[in-house]
Amino acid sequence: MRHWPNQKLLQLTVTATLLLAIFNCKADVLSERTILPLPKLPAHSFSGSVSEIEKTPQWQEHKIMIRKNESLSTALGSLNISPATTYEIGRLQNSNLLTNLNVGDELEIWVDKDQNLQKILYPKSQLTTYELVKTSTGYQIQENKAQVEIRTETAYGTINGSFYIAAQNAGLSARSIMNLADLFAWDIDFARELRDGDVFKVIYEAKYLGNKYIGDGDILAAQIITENGNNAHNAFIMRDNKNVIGYYDEKGKNLKKAFLRSPVDYVRITSKFTPRRFHPILKKWRSHRGVDYGGPIGTPIHVTGSGKIIYEGWGPGYGRHIKVQHAGKYMTLYGHLSKYGKFKKGSYVSQGQTIGYMGMSGLATGPHLHYEFRIHGKHVDPLKVKFPAAGPIDKKYRVAFKKRSHLLLSQLDRLDSSTYLARNFE
Ligand SMILES: [Zn+2]
Repeated sequence: MRHWPNQKLLQLTVTATLLLAIFNCKADVLSERTILPLPKLPAHSFSGSVSEIEKTPQWQEHKIMIRKNESLSTALGSLNISPATTYEIGRLQNSNLLTNLNVGDELEIWVDKDQNLQKILYPKSQLTTYELVKTSTGYQIQENKAQVEIRTETAYGTINGSFYIAAQNAGLSARSIMNLADLFAWDIDFARELRDGDVFKVIYEAKYLGNKYIGDGDILAAQIITENGNNAHNAFIMRDNKNVIGYYDEKGKNLKKAFLRSPVDYVRITSKFTPRRFHPILKKWRSHRGVDYGGPIGTPIHVTGSGKIIYEGWGPGYGRHIKVQHAGKYMTLYGHLSKYGKFKKGSYVSQGQTIGYMGMSGLATGPHLHYEFRIHGKHVDPLKVKFPAAGPIDKKYRVAFKKRSHLLLSQLDRLDSSTYLARNFE
């Protein structure tokens, strides 16, 4: 936990509270998507311009959707284009670009007044269009790639009831909300720990085609401020070319831990770790040396750390259960499963992979996961144990990371409720 004795932030929180009182508005109003003033890139254009066609009125455009059992040749045939033309296209070296059609694909086909084929546009995806053009030497098929523009955008919000709703109102996509929760999954339990008034700030990439938003990219930096502004959790991305190496805090410490705090998502803890408790089935006092998570049968169970499955089988108490040996001294156990995942004894599994599904096999009064965490064979409370951090930032990235994270942190600091209020009421 990093404490943040930041006077400015406290002051801003107070200011925001006052402004909220004045405007008598819900904190949700604070949430909004804004665009950082970045230099605008020119809108994309296909290399073979569609607008040429629009200036050629003697050509007629047909839109044809491919139905079941239809192909390029049936589409062309329906426009009375000669079979010789279809044959000629079929002989082109890259004809498969136009002949591998799926049901529902749409072709734009231009013919001149003599029913001669002049052009075909086949939008394969949002980013790729195949185009057949007629040249002096015959037909040619080319691939046109649209330029995706990456913009940096920011989101700011104050939690009022639900983190998810506040994040949605701030303009974050479902994907970015999940990514944000994943980033901090080792530090913050989003379902239980966030409180009303907690603040989140995100700087992220959004992808645009032309001026059309097509989805979010990576989160570049994020901050979650808890405990009335006293505790800031920071995350900064480190990328190598296009690959995300990881997210680290302002000191370069990996946000990932060697273990996830919980092996299941969004379920309740039904029984905590206790040295001694009364067992409801055995009707006698026993210790409970793990944590129980209640939830529906079939809930996926994620292995909390990478390691090797050393046991997968039945035990009279645990029912179907799995033991995973992790690096060095750690072992985890998952009991009462309804079924196993795809991994067998001896398999290596990575943190977060689904190794089984919740059930009530063995001694269980209802569906739940019994989860144990052992260090050197000794049971410890998985909710309280301090997990080792995954590796720190690689030496070769340290200088670049320091520079970049400082810049991002100052951008996060400038993102505050007053700027968002100003935007709302100007
Ligand atoms: Zn249990």
